[in-house]
Amino acid sequence: MWTPERLDVRSFARASGQITGEAPVTRFARLVEELFESSLAEVPALVQWRAEGSVREDPQGGTPAIWLNLHAKAVVPLQCQRCLGSVDTALEIDRWFRFVADEVTAEAQDDECEEDVLVLEPSMSLYDLLEDELLMSLPLVPMHDTCPVSVVMQVSDPGMAAEGGDKPPVHPFAALARLKK
Ligand SMILES: [Zn+2]
Repeated sequence: MWTPERLDVRSFARASGQITGEAPVTRFARLVEELFESSLAEVPALVQWRAEGSVREDPQGGTPAIWLNLHAKAVVPLQCQRCLGSVDTALEIDRWFRFVADEVTAEAQDDECEEDVLVLEPSMSLYDLLEDELLMSLPLVPMHDTCPVSVVMQVSDPGMAAEGGDKPPVHPFAALARLKK
């Protein structure tokens, strides 16, 4: 059986391997930092994912290429940048990765092709890869289509008032700063 934490991608691809899994969002510590945690405690979100390996022959007769397709879906609570409430946001990723022998080749090829080019390691964590992709799929400025009537401004709790107080309702740069970390 395949181990997502320590996957031998080469063998996985050669065997046309497939793995599906379901993991609680709380497993992804870097992702959790970006979420609206009070809502996360109420409804634990799940990441449903699928990985598929394949080998493609080189038409020029060179070494066959190792490919990995990663698909994942999750609905996570983010903080709406307009009303500051929790907004359930659907994330979906569907990415192709091609593996090459070394960093130099990866860097040279990554910019010129649609797929992501990664260096082939003896074992890699699918969860790390999933987490990277989920982080990149987060919206820059999460927002409700239509905000529920905001109660933030009416609450007398000083902590909440400070939170919603004088700030402008939209904080695109705060969201950008979070992603740049
Ligand atoms: Zn809102």
